[in-house]
Amino acid sequence: MQRSTKIVATIGPASESESTLADMMAAGMDVARIGLAHGTLDEAIERYRRIRRVSAEVGRPVGILVDLPGPKVRVASLGEDPVEFHSGTTVEMVVGSTRSTASVLEVDYEGLMDDVLVGDTLDMGDGRVVLEVIDKGGDRLKVSIVHGGVLSGCPGVHIPADRLRISTPTPSDFVALDAFIELGVDMVAVSFVRSAHDIRRVGTEPHPRGPMLVAKIETRAAVQNLSGIIETAGAIMVARGDLGSECSIEELPHLQKQIIQQCIAGGRPVITATQMLESMVTRPSPTRAEASDVANAVFDGSSALMLSGETAVGIDPANVVRTMDRIARRADEEFDYELWAERLAELRMTDDSTHDATSITDAMTLAAWRAADGLGISTILAISGTGFTVRSMARFRPQARIIGLSHNERTVQQLTLSWGTTPVLVHDRGSNDEMVRQAVTMARERDFARSGEIVAVLAGADNRSRSANVLRLERIP
Ligand code: PEP
Repeated sequence: MQRSTKIVATIGPASESESTLADMMAAGMDVARIGLAHGTLDEAIERYRRIRRVSAEVGRPVGILVDLPGPKVRVASLGEDPVEFHSGTTVEMVVGSTRSTASVLEVDYEGLMDDVLVGDTLDMGDGRVVLEVIDKGGDRLKVSIVHGGVLSGCPGVHIPADRLRISTPTPSDFVALDAFIELGVDMVAVSFVRSAHDIRRVGTEPHPRGPMLVAKIETRAAVQNLSGIIETAGAIMVARGDLGSECSIEELPHLQKQIIQQCIAGGRPVITATQMLESMVTRPSPTRAEASDVANAVFDGSSALMLSGETAVGIDPANVVRTMDRIARRADEEFDYELWAERLAELRMTDDSTHDATSITDAMTLAAWRAADGLGISTILAISGTGFTVRSMARFRPQARIIGLSHNERTVQQLTLSWGTTPVLVHDRGSNDEMVRQAVTMARERDFARSGEIVAVLAGADNRSRSANVLRLERIP
């Protein structure tokens, strides 16, 4: 059985060589994430070009997601060697970006002294070290280490998002965005989104003409404004690192489930991110809890699972991707497709009868799912210009494999993130009949379906409309 839940892997110093990228693609990486929080823009662009080159050599579409850091606050480098912070001790925090030590942390946020108050709880490295501000004076904060731990490099510092005065995207996000739009990037993640307005501020053309915008849900405000954000963004990331610092930790699993459900209802791909196989940064196999977390994220309905430090700085990035592939593949087998279909009947976006394209595609994809289920069809060919039909189909989590066909190269790249979808580039647009014929021929030639087998084909008869309004059940010649 092919894996349906997609894998997003972050590319960093440990994974940027051509041979490691090729190994990660062979191991099952569907989307490569380039974080911009470390290193220079030129280095990120070089990574981007290398991923494109290797993907072309391997002959497999691999989407590229560029992650704009937004107002992410970081500690200036602690160096490569681990630095231990002991519970109960105190350290100082100052504004700066040169070098940090175990006793003085330089932080790259100009508003530190004004915006952070005595009594605030901060954390570093996605919760690895928890701090409390106990005093402030002159140019420095005095902080007490509440929970100690070991850190290296430039860990992020979580300051409650409602305190930060800088909004997202930041001026340097816009500089990076322009550079990557010029290169034709597939997807762009926007950090610390608080409302749909932050997504609109990015100002790119709607996908697939522009990149698909992925809203990272990591602030309390974003949770409150979730439906507007889902409507405005192309996809969502449950960014558990910062979200886990913003809300109480016992809320995090429930927020993950709620966010995923709402994304499914809205037909948006949703990525579950952060610390999924964290122990594999330094070890060859995951903890039992991590294996369960990955499987449960699949059962929650995640379209994709994300690896961060595990592949960016870990000891064996390809082994991490292989491990996630095995756990997700096994979880896909156990996924409760029947229960999902029942729940989706309540969750679907059918209420939106004011929106023609949405409700027609909703009805057609429901019909395709019923036909596939009732007739035991194992391949659905969904032809789509923007990918909208394919993503709507994926909501149903059909047991049939979805082949997402598009003449638009960027749509094909963006479909690498969609659950259960094999993206395929087709060359001719032609009439509707021609497109169906081309899809059926391609399915046989590429062994997606055997001669004599019935496949479902979904297409839009009208190229100008966003909606799929044709469903054909075709026997493969
Ligand atoms: C997160 O906070 O979970 C996240 C994915 O964002 P970043 O890795 O950019 O901190």
